[in-house]
Amino acid sequence: MCGIVGVVGREQAATWASRGLYALQHRGHDSCGVAWLNEPENSIEVRSGMGAVADVLPDSVTKPLPARAVIGQNLYTTFGHTHSTQPFGGRFWDKEGRRFDVALVHNGQICGIEKLRRRYPVMYRSESDTEIIFSLLPHMPGTTLAEKVRAVLGEIEGAYSLLFLHPGGVIAARDARGFRPLTLAEDDRGGVFFASELNAFDLMNAKFTREVAPGEMVEVSLDGSLRASRFCDPAPNLSQCVFEHIYFARPDNQLFGKAGYSTQRALGRQAARELKGRVDADIVIAVPDSANVATLGFADELGLPFEIGLIRHHYAARTFITRGQSNREEAVRLKFNVIKDVVKGRRVILGDDSLVRATTSRIVISMLRQGGAREVRLVLFSPPITHPCHYGINMASPDELVASRYQSDTAVIARQIGADSVHYLSLPGLREVMGADAKNYCYACMTGSYPVTPDHHAESCSS
Ligand code: SF4
Repeated sequence: MCGIVGVVGREQAATWASRGLYALQHRGHDSCGVAWLNEPENSIEVRSGMGAVADVLPDSVTKPLPARAVIGQNLYTTFGHTHSTQPFGGRFWDKEGRRFDVALVHNGQICGIEKLRRRYPVMYRSESDTEIIFSLLPHMPGTTLAEKVRAVLGEIEGAYSLLFLHPGGVIAARDARGFRPLTLAEDDRGGVFFASELNAFDLMNAKFTREVAPGEMVEVSLDGSLRASRFCDPAPNLSQCVFEHIYFARPDNQLFGKAGYSTQRALGRQAARELKGRVDADIVIAVPDSANVATLGFADELGLPFEIGLIRHHYAARTFITRGQSNREEAVRLKFNVIKDVVKGRRVILGDDSLVRATTSRIVISMLRQGGAREVRLVLFSPPITHPCHYGINMASPDELVASRYQSDTAVIARQIGADSVHYLSLPGLREVMGADAKNYCYACMTGSYPVTPDHHAESCSS
């Protein structure tokens, strides 16, 4: 999972793009970068580096760039051990000798990459699935980049929200199942903007217009004119990632047409309804920040006091998207501190969004006990995560997933992580919160029922 942005037709587009990336930093912090169009040369340049937006793309880098068309990405690498920063940028000539300058950013994960590599045996510089999209372009029919992009989209499967930058503007596309979000905004001066989550538009001074629809391609010219078309019909049932609501999306956001805050609060209320009469505690506390809103809903529904029992150091990164187990453990210790006055001698319910590897929960529960908590019961606002994600979220192998390793046996899991008890939101409960739209979500990491055949052997870096 990554954050991508695009800006067309706004002065100082690179600075606005970096503002958007800053707002989407929670979607990935392995690396970040922007590609911009140089005019009148019509060449494309890329600036990217490892680390966070504030370090790689400060104003001193972006403000001097005169570009009015820019794309950018925050990378969160899923599989593999090599980092491939984005955007990908380059130049190619097709068989008829036409020259194309292009850059690309991607959020998601392409399936069937080995098949594609065999069908198009060219020199690949990295293990990245995004590079495959880029490398297919010269082999596609068509006289314009838009035609070639359309042909590539007919070749690839899986999860993708894409932005292409070229001398004519920006092309956006979203896969037919709509796994990952991609939204569109405009301003009153003819600028057009894209972002993974629409909270980015607040920092980009742009007004959200709509989502890019599943199976849709949107072409934006340098003057801001916009042409939308379908490259395929959307799937009858979409596969929007339900985990985006549970963990990734910020509460100040709207995702897949649902308000982030009220959806997370509803997850908490639903978990409380399922547990009514089965748990008791003196206080309810949340693992900040991703579980704050759901835990509020949970405490409210049960009529228990919600307290702040954990403080998060705001300069520490999100632990789930930190790479490597030992790094994650170190990151959890750096990230949280217990307020002993709050938890000492109390029976505590600890609310968390999900239990993936259980790194955070195990360490936080131990910290709460050291802080004097008398009991610690863990409530999760998602069903057990039993299967890896193959669509852009790093849930690794089943062995690393605690619910898979212990067959979702909550008594065993509680012992393993040092909790007095563990309680999951049920899958029917999650579907109920998603409401009439429940059929349009992917739940594969909870059910093992994959909407697109995954590359089980994939060792690719994806975005
Ligand atoms: S498998 Fe899970 S994390 Fe991956 S897209 Fe589906 S719901 Fe999202």
